[in-house]
Amino acid sequence: MAETSIDQQHQKEQGQAHSRHRAERTCIGCRAQREAHDLLRFACTPQGEVILDVSGRASGRGLYVCCDVVCLRKALNPAKLALALKRSVVVPDFDTVYQEAMRLLYKRLRTCLSLGQKAGAIVSGYVPLRQAFGQAHVLYLILAEDIATGRAEEYRSWCTQHGVPYVTLFTKEELGHIIGKPSRSAVGLIAPHFLKLLFARLTSLERLQAADNRS
Ligand SMILES: [Zn+2]
Repeated sequence: MAETSIDQQHQKEQGQAHSRHRAERTCIGCRAQREAHDLLRFACTPQGEVILDVSGRASGRGLYVCCDVVCLRKALNPAKLALALKRSVVVPDFDTVYQEAMRLLYKRLRTCLSLGQKAGAIVSGYVPLRQAFGQAHVLYLILAEDIATGRAEEYRSWCTQHGVPYVTLFTKEELGHIIGKPSRSAVGLIAPHFLKLLFARLTSLERLQAADNRS
């Protein structure tokens, strides 16, 4: 049921997106064009200070950067920013921006899960999850970092049995809080469109995390 309604919603959104102008922006690090909501937005204040736009609504000229540490390093080059903005700029410290960006991406991930819960794309709790696995509805599983060992083994064996990938993310408390429930050892995702959204969020986070040793 939930799957159908989310897919219909997705088709509707896709249709609208195609009929309207797609919000694509160019990363000032690598020049690739991506959808704005997959990028980090920076804004330049009237004083020439370049800030990470955490709300997505900060006023001032916007600059976009991929969620990738290599792009972020390239983008935070004062000469490059001055050229792009045609003015002298104050560029923030890389480590500060990096930490802010990580927090922002975790926030986007939590928002994504919370929306998924509201859209009926998430199953949680031992019995509902066992049923959903039994009906082959589970597409992806998130296990809490502090899940009990025995329970984790059981969930992982279901995943193996049904060919369902899983990730370990957040604490039980956090997982529950995100979806507006008591603490949760695991949450299962059952809607394909939602899974695509979640993967996009997870990939952004991984690219920002993984890449620091590439620089
Ligand atoms: Zn880039």
